[in-house]
Amino acid sequence: MYPPLKITFLGTGTSSGVPMIACGCEVCTSADPKDNRLRSSILVQSAKTTLVVDTGPDFRYQMLRENVKEIDAVIFTHPHKDHLAGLDDIRAFNFFMKKPIDVFADSLTEEAVRRDFYYAFSDTKYPGIPELNLNTITLEPFVVGDIPVIPILVWHLKMPVLGFRFGKFTYITDANRIDETEKAKIRGSEVLVLNALRKKSHVSHFTLAEAVAMSQELQVKSAYFTHISHQLGLHHAIEKELPAGIHLAYDGLILEI
Ligand SMILES: [Zn+2]
Ligand SMILES: [Zn+2]
Repeated sequence: MYPPLKITFLGTGTSSGVPMIACGCEVCTSADPKDNRLRSSILVQSAKTTLVVDTGPDFRYQMLRENVKEIDAVIFTHPHKDHLAGLDDIRAFNFFMKKPIDVFADSLTEEAVRRDFYYAFSDTKYPGIPELNLNTITLEPFVVGDIPVIPILVWHLKMPVLGFRFGKFTYITDANRIDETEKAKIRGSEVLVLNALRKKSHVSHFTLAEAVAMSQELQVKSAYFTHISHQLGLHHAIEKELPAGIHLAYDGLILEI
């Protein structure tokens, strides 16, 4: 039995976030809260377990906004800064939970964690540094508390990125290609989250049209798009253009699966 899950979209923006610093475009100056997008991340919770996928630069504020008091693990998709930079703020959970926090990352991301947060792994440990318990993952399924996780390999141009399937829910960010063998792992999902950067083509991200086509090919009941750029357009306008069952995600959106 897979536990019922609550998914919270902590952020749905591309690497710059929306609004983007110094931009005066109609999306960046929109009064609609759905046009404000922090860097992409989700919180996945069962009754017993809480995990976060990625800790971008907005991690601290996202934890405060959603009033998260405990975290059992961090799972990383890939080592880019917009998915990793906020990891230092895990210190608050170390302080209140009085223990290291489990981190699940593939070897590529683990290397970046050890490099970017070298002080957490030095022989002389100063008080107050992040306490991380690193677990190296491959494409083998693993379990966090009572939440089984299936890694899915996707491609971000030439960089391997991990998507994750949690029961009937699949989360994929930062991809522009998925191999046939990995598509098989996604099929049967009720809800698929996929990145959709903008309408114009991009070397390492699905466009809106490509994300729609992939969602339809994989025959999921519903799809939500994330990792959105200010260049995509206004949330309410793009939402109207999408086929039934396909939506733009927005910060604070909650799904119960
Ligand atoms: Zn990204
Ligand atoms: Zn803008």
